[in-house]
Amino acid sequence: MSERIVVVGAALLDADGGRLLAARRSAPPELAGRWELPGGKVEPGETSEAALVRELREELGVDAEPGEPVPGEWPLRPPYVLRVWTARLRPGSDAPRPLQDHDALRWLTPAEVWDVDWLDQDVPAVRATLART
Ligand code: C5P
Repeated sequence: MSERIVVVGAALLDADGGRLLAARRSAPPELAGRWELPGGKVEPGETSEAALVRELREELGVDAEPGEPVPGEWPLRPPYVLRVWTARLRPGSDAPRPLQDHDALRWLTPAEVWDVDWLDQDVPAVRATLART
């Protein structure tokens, strides 16, 4: 039987909740240049919220507060599935900067959300996020 491994993606919103952070992947080569919701694999024994906070600290150098789960689950390469949580920066957090996996960041207004070339598998997750925020 196959186990699912959850990859948690962050719908990181700015202080007003009006803009969504998109991160451009720098690796691996087949994903480089495409944009994603930052995040990564939930480790054994770790909650999704803890994984989200850890991944955002590692990848972006921020102190994030998880918000709500966005309803839905989207298949990635087996055994991975993508789930999304909203998140915000805690007061006093540094601004996000690309520390690993990414080479650019953009805060997107609702009008700009589809201006970036999202990873195929992130498109339905972004769409579901917009429906909730
Ligand atoms: O960042 P990490 O390597 O832990 O991500 C695990 C897998 O999930 C990678 O293959 C990555 O491409 C994928 N992923 C994704 N969409 C995201 C975040 C990660 O497809 N928003």
